[in-house]
Amino acid sequence: MANQHDLVVIGAGPGGYVAAIRAAQLGLNTACIDAEAALGGTCLRVGCIPSKALLESSERFHEAGHVLADFGVKVGGVELDLPRMLARKDGIVSGLTQGVAGLFKKNKVTRYHGHGKLVGPGRVAVSGPDTVELSAKHVVIATGSKVATLRGIELDGDRIGTSTEALSYSSVPQHLVVIGAGYIGLELGSVWQRLGAKVTVLEYLERILPGMDAEIAREAERIFEKQGIEFKLGARVTSATRSGDEVTVGIDGQESVRCDRVLLAVGRVPNTDDLGLSSVGIVLDPRGRIPIDDHFRTVVPGVYAIGDVVRGPMLAHKAEEEGVACVEQIVTGYGHVNYDAIPGVVYTHPEIASVGKTEEELNAQGVPYKKGSFPFMANGRARALGATEGRVKILAHTQTDRILGVHVIGPRAGDLIAEAAVAIEFSASAEDIARSSHAHPTLAEAMKEAALAVDRRAIHI
Ligand code: NAD
Repeated sequence: MANQHDLVVIGAGPGGYVAAIRAAQLGLNTACIDAEAALGGTCLRVGCIPSKALLESSERFHEAGHVLADFGVKVGGVELDLPRMLARKDGIVSGLTQGVAGLFKKNKVTRYHGHGKLVGPGRVAVSGPDTVELSAKHVVIATGSKVATLRGIELDGDRIGTSTEALSYSSVPQHLVVIGAGYIGLELGSVWQRLGAKVTVLEYLERILPGMDAEIAREAERIFEKQGIEFKLGARVTSATRSGDEVTVGIDGQESVRCDRVLLAVGRVPNTDDLGLSSVGIVLDPRGRIPIDDHFRTVVPGVYAIGDVVRGPMLAHKAEEEGVACVEQIVTGYGHVNYDAIPGVVYTHPEIASVGKTEEELNAQGVPYKKGSFPFMANGRARALGATEGRVKILAHTQTDRILGVHVIGPRAGDLIAEAAVAIEFSASAEDIARSSHAHPTLAEAMKEAALAVDRRAIHI
């Protein structure tokens, strides 16, 4: 006999576990299946959270050695304790994954440990430590994504690896070659560069951070180069060959690069392995994603999909929004995600954050816009923090003044962007931000000044 639930979620990443909790809040008898012992998915176990822990630690290490003296703090004998740094990261991950287990208990979400697979509409087989068949009126697929591979590169889980390995190198690489100047490459490249590695980033395109505003990406490249990261743009990597502890990375038409570690970070692909999709009639789109309608419904009644397995940016918070909207749609008949107001953040130093349209997108769409920009150099708090690189840039419609896009590179950009996301969500104008009081002295004043600059009336530049 199958175990009966109202709703079953396959995958306990940020999309899946949030969907399960929201469903339980709304009164559904809910279960969530995950193959891993620790809940939280890639984000909590081997993605967002451990990388942020290492970014923080490596930044402190860099500050102790190179920055604190400027603040009038003498620190002698700065030493790296890598095992402790890695253990701290592991402690943060385990605390948070246990936190998800606690939330499941509190909300009475039943957890199954094993691989979930559709075996018919409303029927899911779990195999693993828990082996059981489930039946449910609604099934939400939230299985996330996995690392995209590159032809010519064979991952060996050691010298040639992915972000998972780069979160746990047992020693600082002498020379780390990062393939791909996207989110992962820049974040983890920064970590090991600060800890003492020589870092070379090989990027296929003629720019870093594709998809982000080009002006901001250029500024980021200049700042990272100053920090010591080497970029080779227009470099299409074709091979990586290991010989002992050394790896030779081949580049189309260019000299190859030798190193002792390779981090492959050329994107991620939807994870639809062995989900039984074809058995119920779901056909993937050409990019391997599960097709859905505006309400997250697949072609099979009662089967939904959210997060990295469907269209849109592969971001934890986008998956969370979709999880909530999908379940609310099922229960209340209404659920909505505003894809124009989903921020993206690269947690380098300085951070890079954006929400809404880039200049390139507005130009391509022929939308007339005004631009207001304000440098952190002119912000009192940024000066006190010793973090004056970067700027806030606001793009607003020429006629209506409605905010269309906000792009920030600078201290705590990832936190500052929240104001811009709320502004876009509320269809605010640049004047709305410009006339709102921002505490002094704060970094947020740079947002207000950039909004003022949209109409050429910034006070401090
Ligand atoms: P990405 O898509 O951000 O960047 C991949 C880069 O690799 C691109 O610049 C691409 O042009 C380049 N590339 C592709 N083929 C190449 C080749 N043969 N040689 C050289 N360069 C090549 O991918 P990512 O950094 O791997 O991140 C994967 C996903 O994870 C992203 O979708 C991202 O949204 C998500 N992520 C988000 C965060 C965050 O929000 N802070 C952090 C990490 C990952």
